[in-house]
This record gives sequence, C-alpha cells and structure tokens, in this order.
Amino acid sequence: PRLANQIAAGEVVERPASVVKELAENAIDAGSQRIEVDLENGGARLIRVRDDGSGIAEDDLPLALSRHATSKIESLEDLEGVASLGFRGEALASISSVSRLELMSNIAEDPRSGWRVVAEGRQMEPRVSPAPHPRGTSVSVRDLFFNTPARRKFLRTEKTEFGHVEEAFRRLALSRYDIGWTLRHNQKTLHQLRGADDTAGRERRIAALLGSKFLDNALHLDLEASGLRLWGWVGLPTHSRAQADQQYFFVNGRVVRDRLVAHAIRQAYRDVLFHGRHPVFVLYLEVDPAVVDVNVHPTKHEVRFRDGRLVHDFLFSSLHRALGEVRP
Ligand code: ADP
Ligand code: MG
Repeated sequence: PRLANQIAAGEVVERPASVVKELAENAIDAGSQRIEVDLENGGARLIRVRDDGSGIAEDDLPLALSRHATSKIESLEDLEGVASLGFRGEALASISSVSRLELMSNIAEDPRSGWRVVAEGRQMEPRVSPAPHPRGTSVSVRDLFFNTPARRKFLRTEKTEFGHVEEAFRRLALSRYDIGWTLRHNQKTLHQLRGADDTAGRERRIAALLGSKFLDNALHLDLEASGLRLWGWVGLPTHSRAQADQQYFFVNGRVVRDRLVAHAIRQAYRDVLFHGRHPVFVLYLEVDPAVVDVNVHPTKHEVRFRDGRLVHDFLFSSLHRALGEVRP
C-alpha cells in the first residue's frame, strides 16, 4: 500500500498548491466558517490549514488517513450529483505518504478536548494521543516530498511555489464568499478576508483578490434560462491592459477549466465588441448536479456536461446579451 499511495500521490499532490487545495476543500466540506492557511518557505517546509468545521472523532482519525476512506459517499448513487468537494478518500492518504503530516481535531465545543495523530511517509503512529484543540481541524504538512527526492527536485523557488499557492487560494476564496479566509506566508498575513455573501461582501473580496481596478471596469450579470444560471463579472476593455490571467469560472462552486466554456466566452466576447481582447471574468454557472459529471479527473478541474451544446449556447447567448447592452 505504501507504493500505491506514493503513486496515487503523484496524481493529487503535485506541489504545495495542490496540498492547500485538498486540505482547504476538506475544510469546506466540514462546514467551516473560517479557514486559515499558513505557509513557510513557499509551502515546502510547512503547509498548515486550520478550520472551525465539524472536526473528526477520535475513532475516525486514523481512518481519515487511510486510502479510500471517505465519509462523504455512502453508495454508488451518491456519486451522481456529489455535493461535497472530496469524495475519493485519497487526498490525506496521498499527502501523508510524501510528507510529515500531523492531524489535530476536536468535535466538541470544549477547547480542552481534542486528539492528534501523526503520519510520516506512511509510518503512522499506532496511537492517537490527546491534544487540546478548538472545535475543528488543523492539518500540518511538513517537508513535502522529503522521501521522494525526485519529486522534491521539481519544486521551484519559494516565490514561484507561493505564487501557485496564492492562485489556489484565490480560487478557493472566490468559490465561497460566506467563509472567512486567511493566508499567511512566513508569518506575514497576505490576505484576511471576512466572510460575507452579499453583493458588498463579494465585491470587497474581488477587489482584495484581483485588485480594485477589476470591478471599476466590469459588467455584473445574473441570467437564468432552461435550468441554468450564470452570474458574476465580466471585464470590459480599458485603456490599461487587462491582466490576462484573471479568468475564473466556477461550476456549482468548483473551479473549472473547460474548452467548451472557454470557447463560448471567447466567442461572445469577440463577437460583441472586444475583438482581439483577452477576456477577464469571474463567472459562476449553477446547474442541476445531475447534468454535470465532476468525477472526470482526481484534481477535478474538468467537468463533463450531459448536454454540452445547451451549456455552450446558454453561456454564449447570456454573455452576448449582457455585453451587447453596454456596447458604446
Ligand atoms: P475525501 O475528502 O475524498 O473524503 P480525504 O482524504 O481528503 O478524502 O479525507 C478523508 C476523510 O477525512 C474525509 O472524508 C473526512 O471524513 C475526514 N476529514 C479530512 N479533513 C477534514 C476536516 N478538515 N474536517 C473534518 N473532516 C475531515
Ligand atoms: Mg478531500
């Protein structure tokens, strides 16, 4: 199982940013309202994610680190329309097989209770020991890839790795406005975002994450048709050059990179007025979970729509209409 875990780790754990994504998604699934991400040395030395979610019961702690142990899927039917972000039960097992992982958790309101379990390259301590912790969970991942030197070699500079983490953090924070998020690097707080899921709160967060210029020149839209809803912000051309990489598209809360989606947006953008411009956007597509398959790839950046044509046409026509209204 050790080898199998290390192989599987390659799929899920590519670099510190992927660890942050997996741990934060677990925190989201646990119903957290506050999630804090702490890093040292771009995440190569330490990645710590703390949450105030449901916590993990003492008996379930060792289980949480074992492969294919998930508390989120009970039957095959559940796989249709999964609401939680995780459902394969391999992230913690994979991460712990290539790092020194410490898991602390408490399901009780009493901050004097709590438990701790440690795994080091899969050599898990047999015992769960008491350790006081506020209600919720902290996962610390130290020395990523310490036992897989070939992989460790692929880690880039501290700055580059931190850049990837910050991008993962942006996507997470843009996926859940109701959650408060903190990002710290080498003891320095870079983002402290209050949870508020109303227009003001969302716009405050977008300004904090993407710069205030983004909203100064963006169109807000919210359209619904044939069971699909598209809302969010699309950037309009400015005299200054828009930042090319500000493209965020979420399907039911999951960030998605999809050719069909990209094509529909590009086409609408080009058609209306921004010929030759690179579109920038933060957009949310909400669909019935039964018509989208998110279980295509472990990192889940891909989706497959049952009716791709319907989605493409809806995206294209929604954007076309919204952008057409602001045509000078
Ligand atoms: P998955 O998320 O696919 O279920 P993981 O390996 O990411 O698999 O996590 C294994 C299990 O550990 C989860 O199903 C969940 O029960 C538990 N778990 C992990 N992280 C947390 C957390 N932050 N809060 C509560 N439970 C957690
Ligand atoms: Mg998970």
